[in-house]
Amino acid sequence: MNIPAVIGIDIQDDWAGKTAIVDGYTGTVIIDPDAATLEQMSEKMREDERKQQLLRELRGKETITKSGKKIHLYANIGSVSDVAQVLKNDGEGIGLFRSEFLYLESETFPTEEEQFKAYKMAAQNMAGKKVVVRTLDIGADKQVGYFNLEKEDNPAMGYRAIRICLDQQEIFRTQLRALLRASAFGNISIMFPMIISMQEVLESKRILEEVKTELREQNIPYKDVEVGIMIETPAAVWISEELAKEVDFFSIGTNDLTQYTLAIDRQNPKLDNIYDSHHPAVLRSIQTVIENGHKGGAWVGICGELGADTTLTETFVQMGIDELSVSPSFILPVREAVRNLE
Ligand code: PEP
Ligand code: MG
Repeated sequence: MNIPAVIGIDIQDDWAGKTAIVDGYTGTVIIDPDAATLEQMSEKMREDERKQQLLRELRGKETITKSGKKIHLYANIGSVSDVAQVLKNDGEGIGLFRSEFLYLESETFPTEEEQFKAYKMAAQNMAGKKVVVRTLDIGADKQVGYFNLEKEDNPAMGYRAIRICLDQQEIFRTQLRALLRASAFGNISIMFPMIISMQEVLESKRILEEVKTELREQNIPYKDVEVGIMIETPAAVWISEELAKEVDFFSIGTNDLTQYTLAIDRQNPKLDNIYDSHHPAVLRSIQTVIENGHKGGAWVGICGELGADTTLTETFVQMGIDELSVSPSFILPVREAVRNLE
């Protein structure tokens, strides 16, 4: 919502009724500030507003370096209502639509019709711009009661995402039917999460083709959508040269790629100080995936949080990245960073 926030605070009873300053940039909350602090922070707020104003002037401008290298700057969203923020911040498309929300917000499996309506609305609201929808990435940190998933000792490495979809294919087929039907109303691409093998890619594509055949037989229109995969496991990095020949694009999920490369639970706050997406192993993985993607004819983007890290924008552009997909509030800062590059 473009509002800097602080989370994970232990709120004290005696704060009630007091003035508080919330600084989402530094992660600080100041209770009952003195006059000098209040003035200092008010100035910081005015300064931020001036900066936001300058960034707003970048709306409608291209995301291009001074020497003419164009980057596709897309947005990550978690529900159809987020599309408004994407348009407000001049996103050039949606690079990651986390479709899990449909399942998380529902009491039972969302029907094909419910899903179709949501995807269609996103596609129509984006008016021909690319909308990459990631198929169900449930499990691990995203639990839904009616899936009746068993408790696991190691859920991040457990029964989740594409593994569930290939195991319980009816759930997968319903989503793919809804996505293909919605594709007739805009520019939808389909992306599979948590891929570790060629077999998963071929099997997912095979099911997608079967669903297409079914739709054709029923005279239901759809488009030949682009198909991509998330690269968020070291296994996918290492076989990316082969995988690239089977898909139209790669989107690097640096949140999970960091977790699985460094063997650090992304959910464990005790490990925050060593959960380091700048680790050379992560950066070299990104470089490898870009090179292998291009060799196989696939375009390559980043949709993990690292894509919005403007200290790395130059590095990514030098590596040859084609697309960056970031939270709506980071679109204009990233555009500014790209436009400042030679
Ligand atoms: C990622 O892993 O980087 C990613 C974009 O997916 P999520 O954060 O939804 O797991
Ligand atoms: Mg992920």
